[in-house]
Amino acid sequence: MSEQPAGFDPASLAADYLGEAATLLAHDDPFPGGAVVPPIYQTSLFTFANYADMADTFAGRKRQPVYSRGDNPTVMEFEARVAALEGAEAARGFSSGMAAISATLLAFVGAGERIVAVRNCYGDAYRLFERLFPRLQIKVDYVDGSDPDAVAQALPGAKLLYLESPTSIMFELQDIAHLARLAKEQGIVTTIDNSWATPVFQKPIAHGVDLVLHSASKYLGGHSDTVAGVVAGSAAHIKHINEQTYSQLGAKLSPFEGWLLLRGLRTLPLRLPHHMKSGLTIAERLKAHDKVERVNHPAYSNHPGKKTLAGYAGLFSFEVTEDVDIPAFVDALKLFRIGVSWGGHESLVVPAKASLEQTPGLNSMARFGVSPRTIRFNVGLENVEDLWADIAQAFDKSKAFEKSKK
Ligand SMILES: *Cc1c(COP(=O)(O)O)cnc(C)c1O
Repeated sequence: MSEQPAGFDPASLAADYLGEAATLLAHDDPFPGGAVVPPIYQTSLFTFANYADMADTFAGRKRQPVYSRGDNPTVMEFEARVAALEGAEAARGFSSGMAAISATLLAFVGAGERIVAVRNCYGDAYRLFERLFPRLQIKVDYVDGSDPDAVAQALPGAKLLYLESPTSIMFELQDIAHLARLAKEQGIVTTIDNSWATPVFQKPIAHGVDLVLHSASKYLGGHSDTVAGVVAGSAAHIKHINEQTYSQLGAKLSPFEGWLLLRGLRTLPLRLPHHMKSGLTIAERLKAHDKVERVNHPAYSNHPGKKTLAGYAGLFSFEVTEDVDIPAFVDALKLFRIGVSWGGHESLVVPAKASLEQTPGLNSMARFGVSPRTIRFNVGLENVEDLWADIAQAFDKSKAFEKSKK
């Protein structure tokens, strides 16, 4: 098939995406006792040496951990690492990506105010906007983020611009530098969900975005064993979040999960190019497959939003032809297990058909016209030829199933 533009130059896969990130993540100054890995500070509380120590800390003359709902040294190591990777002054860890998103937005937007959000943003962000925000009298307008004119029209009077490039399920790009500039001209805070690209492939702060959000449950953790989130930005913005919502909503990151994330981060620069290469290999073969109508992968986009992406993650979707029995195809896959989430070592499949039946009336995919013939793949770290063989046999089985039904 298809008139979609050519995707990628395999030679570019040799590029060094990591730069200083490789050293940053592999090298630590030794921790207490010369340990090369930070200890897990599994403590709720940090006591003061004396009255003056306490008074200086409470008055903000000195920063040291007091109570693990605020600062915890293991979590702070993770936060410092993410801030450095994103080129941000500061970062704050959370118990989930949604905790980071909700605490960040609620720190900046209140009753009577308005958010402009990209359509096809992450499903639970959409449900936050549609369920809780109306009760708080916060309004959310959805825009096609790929169209800067549509964003420019929606912005006046808004308090916050919510980006996710590429978007969930459809993988639509936004020109984040252009949109952040439009927002800045009007004093509007710009946030982006950068879980897909990670700072290895996209550094939004360098392009004028104020706050970068992550579901650290995905690539940052990378091992499907942790649910966590993080926001990175200027010291002033992170301070504002700390003061307005972080401590009060209380969705802190646990020291053990902070430690798991530090462990995961060390291999981020190795994992992502592998996900990219395997993802592109499978995307290219799907694009050429006669049962595939189109592949939703940013590599096949001509949108200017592509210029801030240094590489591609292993998560994308594709639409199959009418004659593919989607449940039979999904059930026939053996290496791609059926499951939500993504960004871990294991390959996963999610058919939009079933997701569309989730939360009727509150599903952004239904609202913005995602085809029920869309299937999302998370391409993991398995051997790519094994993965392709699995897909090929599943297509064959879904055809056989079609014939046996007739
Ligand atoms: C999973 C996900 C989230 C939510 O993160 P959790 O850690 O599950 O709370 C946010 N954004 C995107 C793009 C996601 O895929």
